[in-house]
Amino acid sequence: MTTPNPNTRPRSQQIFRRALDVLVGGVNSPVRAFRAVGGEPIVVDRAAAARLWDADDNEYIDYVCSWGALILGHAHPKIVEAINYQARRGTSYGMPTELEVELATRIRRALPSCEKIRFVSSGTEATMSAVRLARAATGRDLIVKFDGCYHGHSDSFLSEAGSGLATLGIAACPGVPQALAALTLNAPYNDAAAVEKLFNENPNKIAAIIVEPIAANMGLVPPSKGFLQTLRDLATRHGALLIFDEVITGFRVCYGGAQSLYGIAPDLTTLGKIIGAGLPVAAYGGRRDLMDQVAPLGPVYQAGTLSGNPLAMSAGIASLDLLAAPGFYDSLEALSKKLGDGISAALRETNAPATAARVGSLLTLFFSRDPITNYADAKKADTKRFAAFFQSMLARGIFIAPSQFEAMFVSAAHTAADIDCTIAALRESLADVSA
Ligand SMILES: *Cc1c(COP(=O)(O)O)cnc(C)c1O
Repeated sequence: MTTPNPNTRPRSQQIFRRALDVLVGGVNSPVRAFRAVGGEPIVVDRAAAARLWDADDNEYIDYVCSWGALILGHAHPKIVEAINYQARRGTSYGMPTELEVELATRIRRALPSCEKIRFVSSGTEATMSAVRLARAATGRDLIVKFDGCYHGHSDSFLSEAGSGLATLGIAACPGVPQALAALTLNAPYNDAAAVEKLFNENPNKIAAIIVEPIAANMGLVPPSKGFLQTLRDLATRHGALLIFDEVITGFRVCYGGAQSLYGIAPDLTTLGKIIGAGLPVAAYGGRRDLMDQVAPLGPVYQAGTLSGNPLAMSAGIASLDLLAAPGFYDSLEALSKKLGDGISAALRETNAPATAARVGSLLTLFFSRDPITNYADAKKADTKRFAAFFQSMLARGIFIAPSQFEAMFVSAAHTAADIDCTIAALRESLADVSA
């Protein structure tokens, strides 16, 4: 394997110079700019399976996997075939297709709480639309979200949000009207008592609780025992809806998502990332009586020129069929456990000031010795040390998310050899940054 370092990326640098001139910050999504880890981003030329190559032909084992969308790795032959086949038949019709029915049927089979589904083009649209529906259905305006959870970039979700806002330290986003921001109530993750307090302080005013059932946008933070069930009970008792934002966890932690893993049925669910296999698609779905309030059946308006895009539907169908194969999630778990165990062993051996979290194929290495149960804990992590660790890994050909506040994603395309190689690089990198 080649060992890339910034000096071996002249062509990437040249392209990024041009990008800086014509694109904001040189990127189309902020975390890609490497601001939190320093240096310049890799500029990707191509990818296959678990590998990325940059514009200088340096090779990386990829644990970003398009931020979790690529559970099958890059350019899986079956996905490529599905896209090619569909592209020849037309890329967008703006009219119903059988493909939409096929994908929706598969999703409902996997997540029975999604009795009806509406496809959109991004996770942001899905959560925004789910909240609009929740407000309409309950006749209430307030929503509860958790610090460090990320639900896309629409106005209501930008307070104390995870992902890029955590990475860049943006606690509240300018441009969001104060009157709208005031309708979002924040609580610490894993703190159901705080949510109960919000319900008591705002009787009959809270439309919905929205939560990442496994938080993965402040780094990986699993739900504590009973947390999600308590949210379910609180929502029911107070006449509010429970929205599971499964944009990352859907088809990731198991075929049925976090809701099937924990046996909790939310009223509404948002999906994205994996269901499009790397093409732009997302969805919201839920109880039939709620979804039937969306236009054209009801007055809650929501639409999209490219919604249900046939290329994305085809890729999604091909992807879910591969994920439904017996043993798929068992193999992914075995691979992820190998990585998780390797990381834990390396932490013990190097006595590095870090803690590892893992749920299935989601992992985060926090540079903190304390347990991480919420955003306040996550923010105590040593982000400078993380930055050094990131660069050390990158120089060894391992690409992880360029932020402490993101997860690593293992895909089915990673091999046992990739994991061994990653653990070896990790051990050296931990030694580097612990020195
Ligand atoms: C990525 C993500 C979103 C936003 O999805 P986009 O497609 O980037 O708009 C929403 N919720 C969660 C949990 C996510 O991880």
